[in-house]
Amino acid sequence: PGKGEKGGAMKKETKLGLAVSKSEDFHEWYRLLVLEAELISTYSVSGCYVLRPWAYQLWEAIQTWFDGEIKKLGVKNAYFPMFLTKAALEKEKDHVEGFAAEVAWVTKAGSSELEEPIAIRPTSETIIYPLYSQWIRSHRDLPLKLNQWTNCVRWEFKDPRPFLRTREFLWQEGHTAFATKPEADREVRQILDLYAMIYQDLLAVPVTKGLKTEAEKFAGGLYTTTVEGFIPDTGRGIQAGTSHCLGQKFSKMFDIGFEAVDQQRQLCWQNSWGLSTRSLGIMIMVHGDDKGLRLPPRVAPTQIVIINIPNAKLSEEARTAMASKCSELEALLRQAGVRAECDLRENYSPPWKYNHWEVKGVPLRMEIGPRDMENGTVMLARRDGKAPKEPVKFDQLLLRVPQLLEEIQNSMYTSARTEYDSCIERATTLDEFKAALDRKHMVLAPWCNGLKQEDDLGKATKTAEAMGAKSLCIPFEQPELAEGTMCFYTGELAQNWTLFGRSY
Ligand code: AMP
Repeated sequence: PGKGEKGGAMKKETKLGLAVSKSEDFHEWYRLLVLEAELISTYSVSGCYVLRPWAYQLWEAIQTWFDGEIKKLGVKNAYFPMFLTKAALEKEKDHVEGFAAEVAWVTKAGSSELEEPIAIRPTSETIIYPLYSQWIRSHRDLPLKLNQWTNCVRWEFKDPRPFLRTREFLWQEGHTAFATKPEADREVRQILDLYAMIYQDLLAVPVTKGLKTEAEKFAGGLYTTTVEGFIPDTGRGIQAGTSHCLGQKFSKMFDIGFEAVDQQRQLCWQNSWGLSTRSLGIMIMVHGDDKGLRLPPRVAPTQIVIINIPNAKLSEEARTAMASKCSELEALLRQAGVRAECDLRENYSPPWKYNHWEVKGVPLRMEIGPRDMENGTVMLARRDGKAPKEPVKFDQLLLRVPQLLEEIQNSMYTSARTEYDSCIERATTLDEFKAALDRKHMVLAPWCNGLKQEDDLGKATKTAEAMGAKSLCIPFEQPELAEGTMCFYTGELAQNWTLFGRSY
């Protein structure tokens, strides 16, 4: 990094890129990245983090898109309280068992003990469904489709990690009720498709869509569908979003019924679905590099940063003209819908600024120096370094910038997809299975669907250095399973190909 051109007060200069490389110490790299890219700040309560504007804007990009899509499906937003009584939480037995260990309780108000402790929502099924029981009377009240954008609290004891696993996180949770199972089934898949689109089309992150096994499904639900992500550097899968069919279990417990057309009373079929700020963590881990964050253009809060490069010999007048040109191009691009931002600060040198915006992951940089001013051009530099810097005429910018942003978006997805696919191996024996895990890969294997066997498999694949494997999902896209194929683990008849891996 050089000096400030005007010699004024220079801010403390940082090193180029991050102090630790992604391959050297992944988790330290991630810890540094989220701080230096100004995504989060740490906080005095363990497992909680501040989402700074740079991160919050990414969440808003997901929110805006998804909110628009669910509204097209007829979903409406509402807000339910974050507190719930013990009795409500405990109403569905399997559900409470699944969450009990992570529920945070309010036991005091000021200095006085509450008569009954109040739980803070780990998820809102048991908050919302007593209301559904009151609101739904007749088939005319169905379907009921509500969503809320909220925080929720799960007092996790596994290692907290910004975005991926935090004690308070932001998410949306959808809760819907239908008259028939086919309607509920259909919506489960519609939502799952939208989740896959958030990852693949917005975040440029590949996922696999599938069904959770019985061991991994949502506590109290009928079945869970999931999009599963993967972090190649650690070889660990991660649940990226879940769309559950709750069946009639909750409607039975909460008495959510309706009078059907034939005047008979029936129970509703229910779904719930949620996607959290974990999505940002997956995106950061997949795309980040040794220089810092890399943002897919579709969600980047700033898609192109414009930096002036005045040199010491430049007259005051030429300096001002250069800065005005930057602002003019910024306005032009903004009018065309490009999220452009000038960085004309004089107390930072151009190289310092390049580094700053590279750490923050801005996909494109526009540089304007004295020669560019003479030629009527700018230089465009891609954050992904996939092509050399490119000179572009002022009047070509409105054409070229959107093209490049689109190219970057596609190339980020394609590279991530290639890597993801290269990390899936097939195995038909336990030895092959373990060898694939040791290569930090996911494993697609013929599986018997045994509930207890899955637990055993976890123990069988645990090593001194690494956790055991678990099922990630039964992919909807199944390779052919030849008749009589045996489960790679139990030797019993296999039911399907299941994707396994070590996971977060
Ligand atoms: P669940 O209600 O357990 O199906 O979770 C809904 C979504 O929230 C999942 O897809 C997870 O990706 C995400 N999630 C669960 N626990 C956490 C956590 N502690 N921090 C961030 N995201 C989470």
